[in-house]
Amino acid sequence: MSVLAEPGPTGDIDIDRPDVVVIGGGPVGLAAAVDLGVRGLNVLLVDAGDGVANYPTAESIDARTMEWLRQLGIANAVEHSGFPESYPRDISFVTRLSGYELARFRRPSNGGRREPTTGISPEGPVWWPKFWFDTALRARALGLPNVQLRYRWRCEGISQTEYGVTANLVRSDGTRHAATAPYLVACDGARSSVRGGLGITMEGSRAEAVWEGAFVEIPDLLARINLAPAVQYYTLRPRRSIFGSLNGKDLWRVTYPLEPGKSQTEDEIVATIRECIGIPDIPLVLRDGRVWAGHTVVASAYRQGRVFLAGDAAHQMWPSGGHGMNTGIGDVHNLAWKLAAVVRGGAGEGLLDSYQAERKPVAVRNTTRAAANYHADLALPTDPILDDPEAAGKRARQAAARQVRETREAEWRSLGVQLGYRYEGSPIVVPDGSVEPVDEPTSYAPAARPGHRAPHVVLPDGRSTLDLFGAGFVLLHTSLAPDPQPWDEAFRARRIRLDIVDASQSQLAEAYPAELVLVRPDGIVAWSGKLADPDIASIVETVLGIASRPANETTHDAERMTSRWR
Ligand SMILES: Cc1cc2nc3c(=O)[nH]c(=O)nc-3n(C[C@H](O)[C@H](O)[C@H](O)COP(=O)(O)OP(=O)(O)OC[C@H]3O[C@@H](n4cnc5c(N)ncnc54)[C@H](O)[C@@H]3O)c2cc1C
Repeated sequence: MSVLAEPGPTGDIDIDRPDVVVIGGGPVGLAAAVDLGVRGLNVLLVDAGDGVANYPTAESIDARTMEWLRQLGIANAVEHSGFPESYPRDISFVTRLSGYELARFRRPSNGGRREPTTGISPEGPVWWPKFWFDTALRARALGLPNVQLRYRWRCEGISQTEYGVTANLVRSDGTRHAATAPYLVACDGARSSVRGGLGITMEGSRAEAVWEGAFVEIPDLLARINLAPAVQYYTLRPRRSIFGSLNGKDLWRVTYPLEPGKSQTEDEIVATIRECIGIPDIPLVLRDGRVWAGHTVVASAYRQGRVFLAGDAAHQMWPSGGHGMNTGIGDVHNLAWKLAAVVRGGAGEGLLDSYQAERKPVAVRNTTRAAANYHADLALPTDPILDDPEAAGKRARQAAARQVRETREAEWRSLGVQLGYRYEGSPIVVPDGSVEPVDEPTSYAPAARPGHRAPHVVLPDGRSTLDLFGAGFVLLHTSLAPDPQPWDEAFRARRIRLDIVDASQSQLAEAYPAELVLVRPDGIVAWSGKLADPDIASIVETVLGIASRPANETTHDAERMTSRWR
C-alpha cells in the first residue's frame, strides 16, 4: 500500500447554497470543514492541489488538538494510523547519527499518549504524520452529507457585498464556477492569495532564515545506527539538521539550514544527508524536497467583512515546537461555532469580531514561543571538536549535552503552550474580577476562569467533562440547581442549544469552584458566578456578541502577554 494519502474528489461543484466556502484543503481547511459541517452548516471546500501528501509536515499533534478530535469522534483514529503505536516519541540530540548521542528526552509512544496528561486531559499529544492525519480529517469531512470537498479547484479571486462573498473558482481542466456564500474562510496557507487580495499585511519578522527540507526514504537507517528509536534526531555535526520520522521505519523528513542565497542540487542534498548520518554509502531515495523560509509573522487583520483567515494564512511560525498547524486548528475550533451561531441568526456581529480579538494574541504568543525554541537550537555548538574521540572531545560533548538539557527540553515540555492559552480581555467573555494567572509555556495549571479552557474532570460515569462540550453551551452547576427556565428561554430565543448539567455529585467542586460555570461550544469558560440572581439576559448578550464590551476595555496587550515567552 502506498503510504501517501489518496487524491481527493475533483468532480463538479453542485452543493446547494453553501453557508461557508473554505479555500484550502490543508489540515486547517479540512478541520474547518469538519467543525462547520458537524454544526449543520453547508460547506464547500476547494483545494488547488490533488489532496495527496507529497511533502509531509506537521506530525506533532498537541493535546488540545487531540481534545478537539475527541469531540469529533476521531481521536482514536491515531491508533489505526500507519505510525507504529509503540514507537517512542523520544527526541535525541547527536553529533552525527552514527556518532555520539548527547542527550535524549524520553516521551511515551502514541500508545501511551495519555500518560503525560493524566488528571489534566482525557487525551495527550501524539505523533501522527500527515499521510494519516489529513486522511482521517478528510474521511470525517467526506462522511458529512452537508460538506462538499473539491480538489484541483483553484480560487482565483473573491469579491464581497453586504450580503455575501463570491469565490471565483477554476478547475484544472478550465471549468469555472462562482461559489457564493454568506461567509468564506481562507485556509490557503502561507502564501494566501485571499489574504493578498484583501490587502491584509503580515506583522512581525519575515524570512529569518532559509531551510531545505527533503522527504527521503532511507531503508536501513535504524538498523545501521547505534541509537534507540526516536521521532526526531537533531544532529550538530558536520552541520545542524533534524531527521523526523514519518512512519517509524524508513521514511524521514530531513531539514537543515541553507547558507543565504545558496541552493542545492539533488546530489548535494543526498550528500548532505549522508554526511549528517555519517555513513557515506547508505542507500537512500529522495522523494521530494522543498526550500522554505522561517517566519515569525501574524496577519494584521483576521477578518475583513465576510472573510476570515485561519491557519498559515493568518500566522507563520518556526516549526520548532510543532505549534503551526495546532494553532491553526485552534483558530477554526474558535471560529466554527461562532459562524454557526451567526448563520442561524441568533448571535451578533460582535461574535465574529471576537475571532480576531481572541485568536490573534494566541498567534503572537505561539509564534514568539516557536522563535524562542528556534533560537535556543541555533545557540547549540557545532564545533568539529564534538567529533573528537579523545578527552577534549568528551569534555566538549559533555558541555553540549548540558546545554541541550538546560535549554532545549522546553520545546517538548509545552503543555502550557498547548492548553494554557486564554482569551483575556475578550469582548465575549465576562470577567470574574480575578487576577490573570501567569501563562507559563512549559506547565499548565487548570483554571475554570472565564476565558480559559474548561478543565478536565472524570465524571462518575467515566467520561470527561470535556465530553459534555461541543454541541452548544453547557451550564454546569456544582451546588444547587439554578431555575432552568430563564436560562433555557434566553438561549432558545437565540437559537442556541444549552445543556444544564448537574455536577454537584461529582468531583467537580475542586476544579470548578464557582456555583455556576457557563462553557462555550469550544470548551472555553464564558462566565462563572453564583446561583443567586445572575443577570442572565446580559450574560447571554455578551457571550453571543450581541452587546460587546467597548474596544478600549478589550484590547489585548500582546506585548505584555508574550514578554515571558521569548
Ligand atoms: C518542516 C516543518 C515541520 C512542521 N511540523 C509541524 C508540527 O509538527 N506540528 C504543527 O502543528 N505544525 C507543523 N508545521 C507547520 C504546519 O506544516 C503548517 O502550520 C500547516 O501545514 C498549515 O496548515 P494550513 O492548512 O493552514 O496550510 P497548508 O497546509 O499550507 O494548506 C494550504 C492549502 O491551500 C491550498 N491552496 C492554496 N492556494 C489556493 C487557492 N488559491 N485555491 C485553492 N486552494 C489553495 C493548497 O493547495 C494547500 O492544500 C511544520 C512546518 C514545517 C515546514
